[in-house]
Amino acid sequence: MRYIDTHAHYNDKVYKDNLDEILAIIKDANVDKIINVGYSIEGSRECIELAKKYDYIFSTIGIHPESIEEDVDKLEELYNINKGEKIVAVGEIGLDYAYVKDNKEKQINLFKKQIKLAEKLKLPIIIHSRDAALDTYNIIKENVNIGTKLLFHCFAPTDDLVRLVLERKYFVAFGGNITYPRNISFKKYIEMIPIEQMVMETDSPYLSPIPFRGKINNSSNLNIICKKLAEYKNINEEELSKILYNNSIKLFDLK
Ligand SMILES: [Zn+2]
Repeated sequence: MRYIDTHAHYNDKVYKDNLDEILAIIKDANVDKIINVGYSIEGSRECIELAKKYDYIFSTIGIHPESIEEDVDKLEELYNINKGEKIVAVGEIGLDYAYVKDNKEKQINLFKKQIKLAEKLKLPIIIHSRDAALDTYNIIKENVNIGTKLLFHCFAPTDDLVRLVLERKYFVAFGGNITYPRNISFKKYIEMIPIEQMVMETDSPYLSPIPFRGKINNSSNLNIICKKLAEYKNINEEELSKILYNNSIKLFDLK
């Protein structure tokens, strides 16, 4: 089996002292590609640098709602300076009302601007949505062109979002959170979504799956997520890993 981690943050400071050691463990666990995801201008710059250093790491550029004051023009500038450097998506972008609720308008504006940027650059979009399913649904429905590729990172399914995923053939990524007991409700949605629209992620260093919950995560835990998904989809793990691998290649046009 081999895996692709479609969402990780190896530029995080928790890996500063042992990144090469961690990456060696990940390689040994059959993870052969990683998308390292941006969340701010500086974070995106670090992602690009990481992708320059390691041939199996790809980068994205994006401003997460937590970096609300940042400028999308600067993000575009960063892209232009680094064209051809394995930048495979715009993300993670979206809405986070768990973090702050009193700046919704600003979050929505930043989100819309980056949707436009992704479409201008012809890149897929990676969505972050937390406690904001309805607004996320409405904004995507009204602002994302048909045919633009889109991935819901750390997907927290709702009836509306799943309908949108099915209608527009969007991708969803599941991570360690599907192993948490409170998310048993995901099962019925996972059964509804075709495997062809799924990929895996770890969101490292966050969201470690059980039994590593609360510890620093890394991509070698993808096998745990694959196992859980295989169980939900009632399919052989090996077969599932192959399909998810190919989905990731297709979604991000990985070479
Ligand atoms: Zn993330």
